[in-house]
Amino acid sequence: MQAMVLRRHGGPEVLEREEVDLPDPGPREVQVRVHAVAMNHMDLWVRRGLPHLKLEYPHRLGCDIAGVVEKLGPGARAGKVGERVMVQPAISCGVCQACLSGRDNLCRGYHILGESTQGGYGELINVPDTNLLPIPDGMSFTDAAALPLCTLTAWQMVFRKAKVQPGENVLVHAAGSGVSSIAIQLVKIAGGKVIATTGTDEKAEKAKELGADHVINYSKQDFVAEVKALTNKRGVDVVLDHVGGDVFAKSVYATAWGGRIVTCGATAGPSPQIDLRHVFFRQIEILGSTMGSKGDLLAALPHIQSGAIKPVVDRVMSLWDARQAHELLEGRKAFGKIVLTV
Ligand code: ZN
Repeated sequence: MQAMVLRRHGGPEVLEREEVDLPDPGPREVQVRVHAVAMNHMDLWVRRGLPHLKLEYPHRLGCDIAGVVEKLGPGARAGKVGERVMVQPAISCGVCQACLSGRDNLCRGYHILGESTQGGYGELINVPDTNLLPIPDGMSFTDAAALPLCTLTAWQMVFRKAKVQPGENVLVHAAGSGVSSIAIQLVKIAGGKVIATTGTDEKAEKAKELGADHVINYSKQDFVAEVKALTNKRGVDVVLDHVGGDVFAKSVYATAWGGRIVTCGATAGPSPQIDLRHVFFRQIEILGSTMGSKGDLLAALPHIQSGAIKPVVDRVMSLWDARQAHELLEGRKAFGKIVLTV
């Protein structure tokens, strides 16, 4: 099959179109013909190289996949040939205590597709039969591909970690990112009020369309001062952050006494200078979050089907233009997902 592969780490230029061999699906595996694969920041990190990450070359990136079931491996229990499916973005061992407790994202054998195992930057992919989700009728492949990782990540942050309650104020950083564009919608489902931050007026308008009650343009306004003004000096009950760096450090000051900060990323830097006095004295909880359990994506499915969770697609490009797509994502120009069609 044709694929966009890496044979070494580096800039977007290391992405190359190649013919690669894909074996038939193994026991309890399903082969999916990829119609669309959405990009994530993880694609950029893996392409550039991460400590301790050893890839099997040629490596295919891409964990957010939508397509059609092509072939069933021996004993596959899910999927019918021809069925339109989204793919759960990670795999786990399925037999350890974490997996059996519905916390598969804590499995020691947890692998995100396209990170430590082969991903969807190709015409076909083999995945375990436990990784399939139906695409709702009427939803395009490009919209479906935009959903899995962001929805899974945002669901765990909003419902399992922060446990957002009706009426709570929730600060959602970087509204234009994939995770935040879904998190805004989930906070509204939970009955919370969203204060979103973003860097341009154009993105601010889009955040409001998704349901944000207030949007702070951080290129013009100090978000801590704005949050205090919007909450009668109290601060927000919850901060959802994947930016890290100074944004994380300042988020501590924007959080109410007893509030929660959930972090799932550090695109602006992994080592913020935090004033711990504000953390312990004001009893702020800092909660780490990565991905979510497969069950959570199934829990989100009815909301996807009803339209309460809408995919946010910035643009659709061809997989074969992946170099250009990587440059666009690195430039932070997108609102929502960049989706590549195959
Ligand atoms: Zn496991």
